[in-house]
Amino acid sequence: MPSTQKYKRILLKVSGEVLMGQQPYGIDLDTVGRLADEVLACAATGTQMALVIGGGNIFRGLAGAAKGMDRVSADHMGIMATVMNALAMQGVLTRKGMDARVLSAIAMPTVCETYSRAKGIHHLEAGRIIICAAGTGLPFFTTDTGAALRAAELSCDALFKGTSVDGVYSADPKSDPDARRYDTISFNEILAKDLRIMDPAAIALARDNGIPVVVFSIRKPGAVVEVLSGGGLFTTVTKD
Ligand code: UDP
Repeated sequence: MPSTQKYKRILLKVSGEVLMGQQPYGIDLDTVGRLADEVLACAATGTQMALVIGGGNIFRGLAGAAKGMDRVSADHMGIMATVMNALAMQGVLTRKGMDARVLSAIAMPTVCETYSRAKGIHHLEAGRIIICAAGTGLPFFTTDTGAALRAAELSCDALFKGTSVDGVYSADPKSDPDARRYDTISFNEILAKDLRIMDPAAIALARDNGIPVVVFSIRKPGAVVEVLSGGGLFTTVTKD
């Protein structure tokens, strides 16, 4: 299996909402456990795994700003939420016997390691799973952009974007019966058609660094390892 796989090192991005399971808010540990099993199944194929988990299940800066909060403080709260999610995932992975490390873009040395490229690559090469937390470490950004940034820095072969749909569609498949799913699509087409699979800054970063983005449904059990081996439904976003 490992030698036939296209991607040797991937960055898997999931939004914080995935961690909620059926709950309206927060972290459902059973759901984190299921996601951890998927990640472990990928790691078992020999693929080096870096994770980025959003924070939307706990707090989004824009929502805070809409209620009158200072945007920068609100974004810092969103950033903290991503660290909480990362710690939850690390705990579950560790309990399952995997050495996993949280690398935060904002230094909090008594809580987790501080992100550096060298440290990230060192852990990956040692067979550990890394969870890149705190997004870019900066307000006004998103964890999608953080994911594209880390994928570029860590020389990942692909950015796997787990969403609630099984790829990129020409229109919203929930409201448009004529919507068709692309097997492949270019970054520029995504931007031109304003197909919002990730924010435009993240798309541009992946495009400029030649990192294919693989969009698939994280809701489908076993999807990550299936897509990793080239099966199942997904869309690959590439340069041309
Ligand atoms: N955030 C930020 N800078 C970053 C990454 C995240 O300010 O580089 C904040 C922002 O407020 C965002 C929140 O953290 O709303 C949660 O991240 P995101 O919305 O990307 O999470 P997701 O939607 O993927 O769960």
